[in-house]
Amino acid sequence: MIESMYNFSFKNRIAFNYIITTALLIGVVFMIIYVVVKISVSNHLDQDLQREVDRHSKEIEVKDGVIALRKHTEWMEREHNTVGVDPVFIEFLDAEGKLIDKSPNLKDSELLYIPDYVDNIVTEGKLADKKIRQEQVPIYDDDEIAGYLLVAVSIEGSTVVLESLRHVLLISYPFILLILFFVARIIAGRSIKPINDIIETSNAITRDNLISRIPLPHNKDELYILSDTINNLLDRVEQTIEREKSFTSYASHEFRTPLAVLKGTLEVLIRKPRGQEEYEEKINYCIKEVDRLNHLVDELLILTRYENQKQSLKLEDTAIENLVSICLKRFSSQIQNKGIQVHTNITPENIRIKTDSYLFSTIINNILSNAIKYSEQGGIIRIDVTNENNTVIFVIKDNGMGIAQKDMDKIFDKFYRSYENDHPQIKGFGLGLAIVKRFSELLQIKIEIASQEAKGTVITLAIPQS
Ligand code: ATP
Ligand code: MG
Repeated sequence: MIESMYNFSFKNRIAFNYIITTALLIGVVFMIIYVVVKISVSNHLDQDLQREVDRHSKEIEVKDGVIALRKHTEWMEREHNTVGVDPVFIEFLDAEGKLIDKSPNLKDSELLYIPDYVDNIVTEGKLADKKIRQEQVPIYDDDEIAGYLLVAVSIEGSTVVLESLRHVLLISYPFILLILFFVARIIAGRSIKPINDIIETSNAITRDNLISRIPLPHNKDELYILSDTINNLLDRVEQTIEREKSFTSYASHEFRTPLAVLKGTLEVLIRKPRGQEEYEEKINYCIKEVDRLNHLVDELLILTRYENQKQSLKLEDTAIENLVSICLKRFSSQIQNKGIQVHTNITPENIRIKTDSYLFSTIINNILSNAIKYSEQGGIIRIDVTNENNTVIFVIKDNGMGIAQKDMDKIFDKFYRSYENDHPQIKGFGLGLAIVKRFSELLQIKIEIASQEAKGTVITLAIPQS
């Protein structure tokens, strides 16, 4: 059952829904047509009947309380000669309902007499297997009934008309619906053609072929929006996959280089015995490389851990001043070595934010590390923290080498390093700002960066306080 529901295609479903509504509508219209025709036929018959009644009433006279035809022979002749498609039957009865006279076309039969009726009465019945409508009219002599006039017309013709009308309507009904169903199917099929395009394109798309896009339909309707949305989605998926691909290739490259260096150094070292000094130098070099590798592994782990699922944040009340001084302590030796001056200004001093202090200090650490790394000897770093209507503005400014305008939108990408070629002596993996970006997203911190080459860099964090 469920399977057959699925097999009932979208096209057929649209056509089917359309047909249900149309079926009701056509049904109602057919019913109205039938009823209107029936009423008008019936009115027509009544008029005929009335005309005959009027005509024959004039030919009657009442003599001594009994009705009689004024000119009997003439009447008989006329009735004989009247050739009508729908014959009219006439009877005259006396007050007791006994037959006085009848039109010759009645032959042996008699019309139905309903006794004791003081008003006109219209009934339907049968006369020798033919359907008739008859009217019984009492003829008055003063206040006494002197007799009855019975007029009947055959309704065979109109019954046949109504019946064939009913047949035509009943037979054409399913046919019309069937034709409409197929027409609706064709129209629906045409209007959902873009959906088939979508299905085809989606089928053509694999991990290795992400170039295909859905051709946009001409009309800017819902299907256009759907196609456009899916195309945008594909763009984003493609970008993500591309980024993942380059991430993996960069990551493996970054691992392979220090490992190759380590291996090379150790191989050279083991080839023959060396002096104490040489051993120390090479081993220290290796330890530094291992440290670098450690740093890389840490950064990659952090990134992957917080990349996909939202790690549950441990929000806690954090004093900014305390956190800044802990961060500065971590870099104190580098700051001293480079002779950098750090000016900190936190107003008011006791600003607190609700945040995950591990994520937040990682953000600050990475920004500070860059500010120190990319500053010249004797540079100046300013840290300004202020509070503006429920938002803490955290500014870290350096007067270092700055970032070229063309690199500005890439520095948050993983493994992107703008000074890779210009300053090979400055080490890094290009992951710091990627981590900053990801963590800022998690903590809903807005981050802005402004930089001028050879002038310095300003990074502004807008931190919601609650
Ligand atoms: P990592 O942080 O992974 O050790 P990294 O510092 O090179 O390496 P990011 O912190 O992501 O990587 O920074 C990316 C690039 O942005 C840097 O290579 C550098 O070119 C540029 N950059 C970042 N901060 C500054 C800054 N304060 N001054 C000048 N350039 C900067
Ligand atoms: Mg960095």
